[in-house]
Amino acid sequence: MATEPPTEMRVLELPADARAWVRRQQLGGRRVAFVPTMGALHEGHLALVRRGAELADDVAVSIFVNPTQFGPNEDFSRYPRTWEDDLRLLRRDGVGMVFAPAADQMYGSRFSTLVAPPRVAEAFEGSIRPTHFQGVCTVVLKLFQIVPADVAVFGQKDYQQARVICDMVADLNLDIDVNVYPTVRDPDGLALSSRNRYLPAGDRERALALWRALSLVARLREAGSCDPSEWQAAMVEELHRSGVDTIDYAAVVDPQTLLPLPGPLSPLPSDPANAPPVAVALIAARIAGTRLLDNLLVR
Ligand code: AMP
Repeated sequence: MATEPPTEMRVLELPADARAWVRRQQLGGRRVAFVPTMGALHEGHLALVRRGAELADDVAVSIFVNPTQFGPNEDFSRYPRTWEDDLRLLRRDGVGMVFAPAADQMYGSRFSTLVAPPRVAEAFEGSIRPTHFQGVCTVVLKLFQIVPADVAVFGQKDYQQARVICDMVADLNLDIDVNVYPTVRDPDGLALSSRNRYLPAGDRERALALWRALSLVARLREAGSCDPSEWQAAMVEELHRSGVDTIDYAAVVDPQTLLPLPGPLSPLPSDPANAPPVAVALIAARIAGTRLLDNLLVR
């Protein structure tokens, strides 16, 4: 890999300019990492940027609140937009290029091609937000064309989304590596999310229910339980006890397919930290009108 960092962060609005920037870096022998975001950046996004900098010479970030992944009654118009702060943070972290298109740069008046998402998109978010993953796959495929990076970094925070992207990349032979980075949390365990800023201060405690429920799964596993249905029941009970308003789902499933597990799992391995995941616990719940997601890989 080349060693010189780029000196000045470019902020580009036009797809052709963004692609030319990536190609120029690559022609100069530099590897480029790409972090797609919707802005309202927090330490979780910045951790992906830093992972990108470990994997490549230059990091490109996109900031685009993608209208096609929001349903008609979702929060597109009030989604937080913190443009100046975002640019300041990305500049501080040495990002080489920010691609920030206007909506009509991405979706012209004649736009009509859509990507049908892979099977792993069907359950959970896919069943609650029926057009969400079609919007995600379409915009991510477009972004990969506009920012033809060597590697893209996504967050485990949106576990199903990361699985959907990995399957799309494999199914469509896309020429990009996908790296999935662990969820960044506040010290009390709350997963960082742009939507946390919607939470009234008094409801933060209730929001911690998601992490408490997931921690319960980890504890049951450590105590020797091999029964995913027991973990699932414990999660649901904890979410109810903590007073979340609505549980959209709380399930323990296969970490690759997100399908139900066939039955009890093998016992905890002697070196769990290095063992492959055997299950993933997924939660989506609403607290004071805010929809929160979290998950935990079980080894
Ligand atoms: P978003 O701006 O919400 O679309 O997220 C952009 C990327 O940041 C996605 O790959 C997310 O999974 C990732 N991300 C969001 N929150 C976190 C977090 N707390 N830790 C790690 N990655 C995150």
